[in-house]
Amino acid sequence: MHARIGPACLLRRGVVCQTCVDVCDARALRYDMRGGGAGEVRLNQDACTGCGDCLPVCPVGAIALQGGDDA
Ligand code: SF4
Ligand code: SF4
Repeated sequence: MHARIGPACLLRRGVVCQTCVDVCDARALRYDMRGGGAGEVRLNQDACTGCGDCLPVCPVGAIALQGGDDA
């Protein structure tokens, strides 16, 4: 299992947010502003433990867990 950030993420609407990055102890989420606009949060699937800590903190519920070991 790993997290997946969906299209509801506020960054896609130009609203700055890094709440999920701050709670990820595994440092699987990284804020990247190189794409322009408000930037985006990138997920390192290899680092993600699937702990789910980032799901409840997202103000718009943009994050979900998906997949298994073979995903
Ligand atoms: S599920 Fe856990 S490890 Fe994966 S991105 Fe969210 S907080 Fe980080
Ligand atoms: S907490 Fe939600 S809205 Fe904020 S950057 Fe993460 S996925 Fe996007």
